[in-house]
Amino acid sequence: MKKESLDYEMETILAHFAEEPMTQGGAIVPPIYQNTLFAAKDWESLCNMFDDQINNCLYTRGGNPTVRVVEEKMAKLAGGERAKLLSSGMAAITAAILHYINHGDHVIAVRNIYGSAHSFLGKYVKEKMNVDTTFVDGKDIGEFEAAIRPNTTLIYLESPTTAIFELQDIPAIVELAKRHGIKTIIDNTWATFLYQKPLELGVDLEIHSCTKYINGHSDVIAGAIIGRAEDVDSIFMREHILFGAKMAPIEAWMILRGMRTLPLRLQRHQKNALRVAKFLDQHPKVLAVRYPGLESYPQYELGKKLMTGYTGLFSVRLDCADEQIGQFFNALRLFKIGVSWGGHESLCYSPAISYFKKLPYERFMELGLSLCDVRLSIGLENADDLILDIEQALGKI
Ligand SMILES: *Cc1c(COP(=O)(O)O)cnc(C)c1O
Repeated sequence: MKKESLDYEMETILAHFAEEPMTQGGAIVPPIYQNTLFAAKDWESLCNMFDDQINNCLYTRGGNPTVRVVEEKMAKLAGGERAKLLSSGMAAITAAILHYINHGDHVIAVRNIYGSAHSFLGKYVKEKMNVDTTFVDGKDIGEFEAAIRPNTTLIYLESPTTAIFELQDIPAIVELAKRHGIKTIIDNTWATFLYQKPLELGVDLEIHSCTKYINGHSDVIAGAIIGRAEDVDSIFMREHILFGAKMAPIEAWMILRGMRTLPLRLQRHQKNALRVAKFLDQHPKVLAVRYPGLESYPQYELGKKLMTGYTGLFSVRLDCADEQIGQFFNALRLFKIGVSWGGHESLCYSPAISYFKKLPYERFMELGLSLCDVRLSIGLENADDLILDIEQALGKI
């Protein structure tokens, strides 16, 4: 049976989709268009470039063919009409939020979202634009409903969150938001568009830090916004072009290469993470494992409804005093100690350290985190080696 290209599955899309216009001379890999501008062949085509900046490349701060290939693939995979790559996940988050808010509006956001997104909503837009944000726990739909005001224009989600891995009931929140004419944005970095499809559930914009699994090799910082053409094109012409957080062609090309193995990498991250999580779940020095892929996880059923797979980032609460945590970190041989996640390498981190350094003590306490909440990014190494490393380090506390 001959399939139309529209029917292709994700692995095939990643291998081929949107690359044909770039295969001049049979080149099997699209070239890196490392140039700032695109010359018009005559006056009429110059006029056309200005009339339709969405479909023409005029200047690389706006559009570039190498960047476009990646954007088209992402839009296709996420089920959106359009995607825009930006220079970082934070560039994507701030551009998407600004698209939906004006001076004096009100936002509802999940409390444990990415730290810089929290600062942007909780402080920056308040001070600059008099936009109030109500932070909610995220697990109770009633709390979202109670927070709605006449001037609420946006609900901002991150599911799962990436410090304590709590999920939000996306379809229920979308239904509530639509009933009140409120827009929704979700940070979908953890699950990626391969394992969770928020746009299909009615979320207006999906954002990603491509720095994590999408690129996956810990060598590029990038972000993406995906959604309807109407929204993403407006962000392109305003927040993207005006603030100038453009994607470098060579970095887009590296993401293109990284993405080709995304399904394979995620399968391995998932398999490794599940093994390590199960090991930790029965270890006497571990009080709790927060991994949505574990059947014992309190929101396991909700996770199964929302996602088709789980990735490799989770946290554990170790049974030790805050002062002992350094002994665990210092004993690790294979796990690197560091922020970020989603690369080939296994990482260990204590999210509380950044909140502890950045936040007022009161808000730190609200998070319910301690320094013994250790976050593990499970990489592509052999799972037995990873387990042995953790086991010997647990022996030191
Ligand atoms: C890393 C991260 C971001 C920010 O992305 P950058 O590419 O570092 O700007 C946003 N959200 C989540 C969940 C992240 O982990």
